[in-house]
Amino acid sequence: MKHKFQFFVFLTLAVLIIAPCQGKTSGNSLPKVHVIATGGTIAGTSTDIGYEAGKASIETILQAVPELTQYAELDYEQFCNIGSQDMNEAIWLSLAKRVNQVLESGLYDAVLISHGTDTMEETAFFLNLTTHSPKPVILVGAMRPSDAEDADGPLNMLKAVQTIVSPDAVGKEVMCCLGGRIYEAGSAFKNDTHSLNPISEVPADWHLPHNANTGFTIDSLEELPEVGIVYGYGSNSTVALEALVNAGCQGIVFAGVGDGNLNQATLDLASQAVQKGIMIVRSSRIAYGGVYTEGGEVDDEKLGFIASGSLNAQKSRILLMLALTATHDIDTIRSYFRHGVSTQQVNE
Ligand code: ASP
Repeated sequence: MKHKFQFFVFLTLAVLIIAPCQGKTSGNSLPKVHVIATGGTIAGTSTDIGYEAGKASIETILQAVPELTQYAELDYEQFCNIGSQDMNEAIWLSLAKRVNQVLESGLYDAVLISHGTDTMEETAFFLNLTTHSPKPVILVGAMRPSDAEDADGPLNMLKAVQTIVSPDAVGKEVMCCLGGRIYEAGSAFKNDTHSLNPISEVPADWHLPHNANTGFTIDSLEELPEVGIVYGYGSNSTVALEALVNAGCQGIVFAGVGDGNLNQATLDLASQAVQKGIMIVRSSRIAYGGVYTEGGEVDDEKLGFIASGSLNAQKSRILLMLALTATHDIDTIRSYFRHGVSTQQVNE
């Protein structure tokens, strides 16, 4: 009888001690990651001529990487399924709102977005300026379709999840994961049409981790101001610039030659556009070096232009669209380009 009682006490203690340990190993304590799928080659499937982006479901993509569950508890939504060449302002706005909602819910530690590589840097930069939680956000893509024998999506996906569950990822800029490497939104740009590692980095003038004190509030925005890009080249005509002016663009980014230079006819037309209230940003078709007012050939102060600093034309366009939702004051917009965007500035 005594033995039976001792055995009962032992069993009760064992259950009390072991039970909480079992709870910890069940996976409940893993970081919670919400996956938002938008398409891209990572969701591509093969065709007779090559492949079609944005075909496979996020469920299929995640099933190809069973190791993910060792690092995070994942759930997912199919937000859209497109090639990122079809990304647009409406999707950017609803994506940013969704990311804010997910991270504000308190239910998740990080957001992972599957995305095409063509415009990944633009979406990352847009989200960096419009999402307001210091929790990590990462975009992940691939250069080979999901059904390729040597698909690169699964390894990139694994690397992306491993990265955002690390405490080091908190308080960073929105990140991009490609070629097994991690890049920050402000400096990443696609620089190779075919390499498995197609992203390069331009040293950025400013780094701006997405958080409550930075960027623009887009909660009540349904659309963004029309801003176009014109490309410079030897003997470029003014037809494209004229078309954007006549189309009613509020801003135009010129991807100029060299140090953001414009030929005389373009310069004349651009300064007339400024007189009409159109914001003109001078960027460059050259990847490195940036465009600055100081030490160049164009008198931005006199002509009313804005120098892009380290931002390429596609990122300049995003900053200009967002800037125009907050202000039309050229000095304020110049300072966004030069120093980044604090919420304090935007709300002033
Ligand atoms: N066109 C594809 C896309 O951006 C290319 C890629 O994902 O690599 O969606």
